[in-house]
Amino acid sequence: MSEQAIQEAPTLAPADYKSAIKPVWCPGCGDFAVVNALGKALASMKLRPEDVAVVSGIGCSSRIPAYTSCYGFHGVHGRSLAIATGLKIARPDLTVVVTGGDGDGYSIGGNHFLHACRRNTDMTYIVMDNRVYGMTKGQPSPTTEPDWDSKLTPQGSGLREFQPIVIALASGANFIARAFTGDPNNLADIIVQAVQNPGFSFVEVLSPCVTYRPEQRNWKKQVGRDAFEPTSDAAEAAMRVLRSDPLSLGVIYKGDRAPYDPRAAAAAQPVTAIEKRFCV
Ligand code: SF4
Repeated sequence: MSEQAIQEAPTLAPADYKSAIKPVWCPGCGDFAVVNALGKALASMKLRPEDVAVVSGIGCSSRIPAYTSCYGFHGVHGRSLAIATGLKIARPDLTVVVTGGDGDGYSIGGNHFLHACRRNTDMTYIVMDNRVYGMTKGQPSPTTEPDWDSKLTPQGSGLREFQPIVIALASGANFIARAFTGDPNNLADIIVQAVQNPGFSFVEVLSPCVTYRPEQRNWKKQVGRDAFEPTSDAAEAAMRVLRSDPLSLGVIYKGDRAPYDPRAAAAAQPVTAIEKRFCV
């Protein structure tokens, strides 16, 4: 958005980014805070709702596009990043924010996650991680602890947790942070940083599922605030994450890779040149 456009844009309040649809989440669900923080972040950047597209897959947190006044696309399970990438390439003028949960993003959507990180398209991916499939009634997700004892997994699944932040670092995401829904102002500030950082930004948000993981209400007392200093060294960042408590918060990594530019890629390799090579 140009400086002139920002100056001309009317000042909107965070509430202006909410739709008239009332969320159907359980009372106390962390996801409420993400809608609020997103509105606050967009208002502080003076982005108009029509300049923003919110894209999601399937799951409790993937309902977010319906609760905002921005353009929205509630896609299919695990495919939000593929949809958002196409949208951003077709409409580079839009600010694209992708929202979803740990089941949607790291299980069926896991492959898209890897390639969105390495493609580095300019968008922000907010994953509300509650370490459970909430919408389908409490199955373990890829980030569930191996010893989580539940009706569906007596004595735990025994499976090692997926490490989204370390995977994102290894795959090339350009901005990586972990935030918590219990600190909404900090969450809004991190969303602003993520949107403003060029390339693919990944924000892991600890968002308690109070229904299937009621013990996550204690996260408020357990999270480690400002535990990370941002670094541009991906290996160092990965080491810090692996050595820290999984509830440590902060901006972890800020890279300087240029975002994927489809026009530059097309100019470097025009379709006619590719056709010629295949036609000999
Ligand atoms: Fe939130 Fe869990 Fe309820 Fe889904 S089931 S709305 S994640 S508290």
